[in-house]
Amino acid sequence: MKPTNPYRNLPQVAKVLDDPAFAVARTNHSASTLASAVRSILDELRSEIERGSATSPVSTSEIAARAVKQLARQDIPTFRTVINATGIVLHTNLGRSPLCESAARAASHAGSGYLNLEMNLDTGKRSSRQDAIRNELCALTGAESATAVNNCAAATVIVLRAVAAGKEVIVSRGQLIEIGGSFRIPEIMAVSGANLKEVGTTNITRISDYERAIGPNTGLLMRIHTSNFRVQGFTRAVELSDLVALGKKHNLPVVDDVGSGALLDLAPFGLPGEPVVSESIRTGADLVLFSGDKLLGGPQAGLIVGKAELIQRIETDPLMRAFRLDKMTLAALEATLRIYRNAERAFREIPTLRMLTTPQSELQDRCERMASRLRAIPVLSVGVHPETAFAGGGSLPEVSFPTVVIAVTPSTINDETFATRLRTGSIPVVGRIQNGKFLIDLRTVFVEQEDNLIKAVIEAISN
Ligand SMILES: *Cc1c(COP(=O)(O)O)cnc(C)c1O
Repeated sequence: MKPTNPYRNLPQVAKVLDDPAFAVARTNHSASTLASAVRSILDELRSEIERGSATSPVSTSEIAARAVKQLARQDIPTFRTVINATGIVLHTNLGRSPLCESAARAASHAGSGYLNLEMNLDTGKRSSRQDAIRNELCALTGAESATAVNNCAAATVIVLRAVAAGKEVIVSRGQLIEIGGSFRIPEIMAVSGANLKEVGTTNITRISDYERAIGPNTGLLMRIHTSNFRVQGFTRAVELSDLVALGKKHNLPVVDDVGSGALLDLAPFGLPGEPVVSESIRTGADLVLFSGDKLLGGPQAGLIVGKAELIQRIETDPLMRAFRLDKMTLAALEATLRIYRNAERAFREIPTLRMLTTPQSELQDRCERMASRLRAIPVLSVGVHPETAFAGGGSLPEVSFPTVVIAVTPSTINDETFATRLRTGSIPVVGRIQNGKFLIDLRTVFVEQEDNLIKAVIEAISN
């Protein structure tokens, strides 16, 4: 008797698709996606048969189960919640500032329904979407007016364009910064249509350097906070107050790009030298620019506060239409700013502020508790030790922070494999490797994530 053709035992695609295992997948995928998943499983089986590695005949429901599993992998979204165990609070690659709960809720509500984005509910008339943010920012910073765009880079472009297009902008050579690879002051300046006029040297710029550079075509004087580096040694930069006095004398606006945008003084918490927005306004800057998602701890945004006449020029610039914030970001920003009405509440509820100011003793306690849970896992050797961290990544100056870390070394796999498995597991964890050990800094791990962190570690050493 002729042996039966093993290929003939494979079911038809349509037959497999009838399997009840597809019930959920059918709601998430088109019929053609389901069919091609089945076809690819059947192709796999055919090549197994060809290689002679096929085991006993595979049932229709097993084929369906394999196809459903393949489809489930496609359902995993690209953007996933990550446990940030790096200790870097403002981690650009991990989305910078996490939102506080009320801001996340506000964004969700704004996104899932209608809202009075540009309607005054009392009068039924059209209003500006900037009003809510303007009112909060004026109250918090003492500025006359305020507006918001997509990020601080956009704020810089629109300010330079609206106030100084075709004119010269005087900037110290010590402040021609690059941030995050794509934000370079000379390039931003070129895009805006303003002309950069550099003065001074990398380490020394005097007020007389600015004064000598002022001419008939000068549009504004600009100070830029050197957010992500410090020039050490023999240095001198001009005080904002001197720049403001010079601006008054020559009738020129002074713009202060403070970057990270602290609304509260963080010097007592080991972050010295971060300019506070209200101080710049009080000192007399005509416009102050800062990010929404650095030290402010809100959504990605570029905030501009200052003189009403200048803010109005910015808001009527055609670029505003391209740069303005969407409803979800505006809602999240308003909710974040509201929390600042009470500074104590801000330090408690805004994750960025809470993480940056977590006392060392509290971190130590959390690390000890977590370490003893990790020590219960047999193949791990676990230690807790003090470390220095750079809590700001590229967003804050390279100020080192004392912190506490848990050092984990599995005996079964090397540190690289361990880190890779943690990153690619069902609950992604990002940490750092130092001297062959995987370091976990709990400063940036939410307390609610601790159980999942343990689960992720167990998964990483057991697969
Ligand atoms: C971070 C920063 C910017 C860019 O801000 P984004 O919100 O990332 O666009 C501009 N200027 C300074 C001084 C900064 O620190």
